[in-house]
Amino acid sequence: MADKTIGSDWLRYFQAVQQQVLDWNRDHPKATWAELDAAVWRQLSGVHTRMMEDVVAARPLASFSQMPEDERPRCSECGDRLQSRGAKTRKLRSVGQEMIRLERAEGVCPTCGRAFFPSGP
Ligand SMILES: [Zn+2]
Repeated sequence: MADKTIGSDWLRYFQAVQQQVLDWNRDHPKATWAELDAAVWRQLSGVHTRMMEDVVAARPLASFSQMPEDERPRCSECGDRLQSRGAKTRKLRSVGQEMIRLERAEGVCPTCGRAFFPSGP
Protein backbone atom coordinates (compact mmCIF):
# COMPACT_ATOMS: atom_id res chain seq x y z
CA MET A 1 0.00 0.00 0.00
CA ALA A 2 1.34 3.39 -0.94
CA ASP A 3 1.99 5.67 1.99
CA LYS A 4 0.08 8.71 0.83
CA THR A 5 -3.15 10.52 1.43
CA ILE A 6 -5.97 9.02 -0.59
CA GLY A 7 -6.77 11.21 -3.54
CA SER A 8 -3.77 13.48 -3.14
CA ASP A 9 -2.95 13.04 -6.82
CA TRP A 10 -6.49 12.76 -8.17
CA LEU A 11 -6.79 16.39 -9.24
CA ARG A 12 -3.74 16.01 -11.48
CA TYR A 13 -5.22 12.79 -12.86
CA PHE A 14 -8.62 14.43 -13.47
CA GLN A 15 -6.94 17.28 -15.31
CA ALA A 16 -5.14 14.80 -17.56
CA VAL A 17 -8.45 13.06 -18.31
CA GLN A 18 -10.08 16.40 -19.02
CA GLN A 19 -7.30 17.20 -21.49
CA GLN A 20 -7.65 13.79 -23.15
CA VAL A 21 -11.38 14.38 -23.70
CA LEU A 22 -10.71 17.82 -25.12
CA ASP A 23 -7.94 16.48 -27.37
CA TRP A 24 -10.15 13.64 -28.59
CA ASN A 25 -12.97 16.08 -29.32
CA ARG A 26 -10.59 18.37 -31.24
CA ASP A 27 -9.19 15.44 -33.26
CA HIS A 28 -12.64 14.03 -34.10
CA PRO A 29 -14.75 17.02 -35.17
CA LYS A 30 -17.15 14.80 -37.15
CA ALA A 31 -17.65 12.20 -34.44
CA THR A 32 -21.15 10.95 -34.01
CA TRP A 33 -23.03 11.21 -30.77
CA ALA A 34 -22.30 7.52 -30.07
CA GLU A 35 -18.57 7.91 -30.77
CA LEU A 36 -18.31 10.95 -28.52
CA ASP A 37 -20.37 9.28 -25.82
CA ALA A 38 -18.09 6.22 -25.93
CA ALA A 39 -14.91 8.31 -25.90
CA VAL A 40 -15.99 10.33 -22.86
CA TRP A 41 -17.18 7.19 -21.10
CA ARG A 42 -13.80 5.48 -21.66
CA GLN A 43 -12.03 8.40 -20.04
CA LEU A 44 -14.43 8.56 -17.12
CA SER A 45 -14.20 4.83 -16.50
CA GLY A 46 -10.46 5.37 -16.04
CA VAL A 47 -11.25 7.89 -13.31
CA HIS A 48 -13.56 5.35 -11.66
CA THR A 49 -10.93 2.62 -11.83
CA ARG A 50 -8.26 4.88 -10.37
CA MET A 51 -10.48 5.97 -7.50
CA MET A 52 -11.51 2.39 -6.68
CA GLU A 53 -7.91 1.17 -6.66
CA ASP A 54 -6.76 3.97 -4.38
CA VAL A 55 -9.69 3.78 -1.97
CA VAL A 56 -9.56 0.00 -1.61
CA ALA A 57 -5.77 0.02 -1.16
CA ALA A 58 -6.17 2.29 1.86
CA ARG A 59 -8.66 0.02 3.63
CA PRO A 60 -7.43 -2.02 6.61
CA LEU A 61 -7.98 -5.43 5.00
CA ALA A 62 -5.67 -4.53 2.14
CA SER A 63 -2.80 -5.28 4.52
CA PHE A 64 -4.41 -6.99 7.49
CA SER A 65 -1.11 -8.31 8.90
CA GLN A 66 -0.70 -4.83 10.36
CA MET A 67 -3.99 -5.13 12.25
CA PRO A 68 -4.06 -6.23 15.90
CA GLU A 69 -4.26 -10.02 16.14
CA ASP A 70 -7.77 -10.00 17.62
CA GLU A 71 -9.12 -7.81 14.79
CA ARG A 72 -7.81 -9.86 11.90
CA PRO A 73 -10.35 -11.51 9.62
CA ARG A 74 -11.56 -15.01 10.32
CA CYS A 75 -11.71 -18.07 8.12
CA SER A 76 -15.19 -18.47 6.70
CA GLU A 77 -14.89 -22.27 7.06
CA CYS A 78 -13.61 -22.81 10.61
CA GLY A 79 -13.49 -19.34 12.17
CA ASP A 80 -9.78 -19.27 13.01
CA ARG A 81 -7.89 -16.00 12.50
CA LEU A 82 -6.22 -15.72 9.11
CA GLN A 83 -2.51 -15.32 8.55
CA SER A 84 -1.34 -13.04 5.76
CA ARG A 85 0.52 -14.55 2.81
CA GLY A 86 1.51 -11.08 1.67
CA ALA A 87 0.13 -8.83 -1.01
CA LYS A 88 -1.10 -10.34 -4.23
CA THR A 89 -2.82 -8.77 -7.19
CA ARG A 90 -6.53 -9.40 -7.34
CA LYS A 91 -8.56 -8.51 -10.41
CA LEU A 92 -12.21 -7.63 -10.11
CA ARG A 93 -14.80 -6.26 -12.50
CA SER A 94 -16.49 -3.02 -11.54
CA VAL A 95 -20.17 -2.25 -11.98
CA GLY A 96 -19.21 -0.72 -15.34
CA GLN A 97 -17.23 -3.89 -16.25
CA GLU A 98 -13.82 -2.21 -16.02
CA MET A 99 -10.98 -4.40 -14.78
CA ILE A 100 -9.79 -3.14 -11.42
CA ARG A 101 -6.47 -4.40 -10.07
CA LEU A 102 -6.13 -4.44 -6.33
CA GLU A 103 -3.08 -5.15 -4.21
CA ARG A 104 -4.58 -7.10 -1.34
CA ALA A 105 -3.25 -9.28 1.41
CA GLU A 106 -4.15 -12.88 0.74
CA GLY A 107 -5.03 -14.78 3.88
CA VAL A 108 -4.49 -18.40 4.74
CA CYS A 109 -6.15 -20.26 7.57
CA PRO A 110 -3.59 -21.99 9.85
CA THR A 111 -6.19 -24.60 10.85
CA CYS A 112 -7.87 -25.74 7.63
CA GLY A 113 -5.46 -24.31 5.06
CA ARG A 114 -8.09 -22.41 3.11
CA ALA A 115 -6.62 -19.40 1.29
CA PHE A 116 -8.58 -16.40 0.10
CA PHE A 117 -8.80 -12.64 0.00
CA PRO A 118 -10.86 -11.54 3.00
CA SER A 119 -13.69 -9.26 1.96
CA GLY A 120 -15.01 -6.25 3.75
CA PRO A 121 -13.78 -2.78 4.59
ZN1 LIG B 1 -10.14 -22.39 8.43
